[in-house]
Amino acid sequence: MSAESLLALDRNHLIHPVAAWRGHEQRGVTVLETGHDGVWLRDNTGHELLDAFAGLWCVNVGYGRDSVVEAAAAQMRKLPYATGYFSFGSEPAIRLAAKLAELAPGTLNHSYLTLGGSEAVDAAIRLIVQYYNATGRPQKKHFIAVERGYHGSSSVGSGLTALPAFHRGFDVPLPNQHYIPSTYPYRNPLGGDDAAIIAESVAALRAKVAEIGADQVAAFFCEPVQGSGGVVVPPKGWLKAMREACRELDILFVADEVITGFGRTGPMFACEAEGVAPDLMTLAKGLTSGYVPMGALMMSDAVYAAIADGTPAGVTVGHGATYSGHPVAAAVALEVIRLYEEEGILANGQAMEPVFAAGLQAMLDHPLVGDVRHRGLLGAIELVSDKAAKRAFDPALGLADRLFRTGYRNGLIFRSFGDHILGFAPALCFGPDHFEQLFARLKRTLDEVL
Ligand code: PLP
Repeated sequence: MSAESLLALDRNHLIHPVAAWRGHEQRGVTVLETGHDGVWLRDNTGHELLDAFAGLWCVNVGYGRDSVVEAAAAQMRKLPYATGYFSFGSEPAIRLAAKLAELAPGTLNHSYLTLGGSEAVDAAIRLIVQYYNATGRPQKKHFIAVERGYHGSSSVGSGLTALPAFHRGFDVPLPNQHYIPSTYPYRNPLGGDDAAIIAESVAALRAKVAEIGADQVAAFFCEPVQGSGGVVVPPKGWLKAMREACRELDILFVADEVITGFGRTGPMFACEAEGVAPDLMTLAKGLTSGYVPMGALMMSDAVYAAIADGTPAGVTVGHGATYSGHPVAAAVALEVIRLYEEEGILANGQAMEPVFAAGLQAMLDHPLVGDVRHRGLLGAIELVSDKAAKRAFDPALGLADRLFRTGYRNGLIFRSFGDHILGFAPALCFGPDHFEQLFARLKRTLDEVL
């Protein structure tokens, strides 16, 4: 089909996720055609692009992994679908849940398998409500999250997301959804050094719980590193401090590892780096590396047992979906996890962190780069018009759009947050030569635009 006809069909029929519907109609879309050789994309005009964002921070094992394709094809031939309802199951779903239990921290031994991150967050909210009802504390129904956080766009979960675009016109947050300030070291609303930021964040959580009423709060949701809010990297120790505070406050601690899971920040899960064992954990993206959709909600032995024991034997816990634990997605996830562990993908991601860090650090010499930050292979640069004053660019300049287009012309894909933050999430199979190309193309792009 010609590129022109495809664009016309797109304009007339396809609703894109998180897009300006009218603007998009006029500008059209860029149609990607192939992903190959780990880190490369080609569009339908033949233009080659280095993907420095792993699709949407998900293709952690890289493009063109034949063993993943074969795992999906073999499962499709054998059993393309099996419901998890009515006591049915499939071997890949069962093996995947067991594998996740082996990998996850603490006693996170139980997985509900979803279609993605938003559904995992939504399942977490529903089952936390169920947990407090089952344990005789039905008044604990308030949820606290972090400003700039992203927890997907389900009808309730989008209220825990704290980004205006996801609230506008959707009547969220709901009255039982609350936020505390983000730990944003560069533009630190909390003030002080790392220890002070952590102390103030814990104090903010305590104050919010006190304001709502200690016996009314159900759970605290956070990302170990905030992704869509602009790759906000909290000080080391923050996650552990928040986890401990939740334990003391008697509220559930939910780690949203949809982005940070599966090696994105170095270890298999970001919680591991701080010895944190959450009560619940949400996963997606790197679970299947984007080859097919899948997410997971994991819960601790204690949370699982409380719901199970609080529900009379034989009575249904009414949460589920046709495609929960889809056998093809589970087979893909098992193969992707094998690649992380047995084919050196996780280890390569860890080995590349210093290369990525050095490349980011060198960008600080650019007159308009105010901040660089990263954890593992999750990073960002923040642009300013005045370094000393940390002054952001005037949004009227439309910088994000120009940077994206120029980067694209220079054969590089990254993502902009607002007008001034450029985010990077290279696949864990990036090598030193890929990083060299990434930073050379990025520098050329900044020089051409600014
Ligand atoms: N949670 C976090 C931290 C995310 O970054 C995302 C997506 O980017 C989600 C949840 C929602 O996941 P999905 O887009 O798969 O629904």
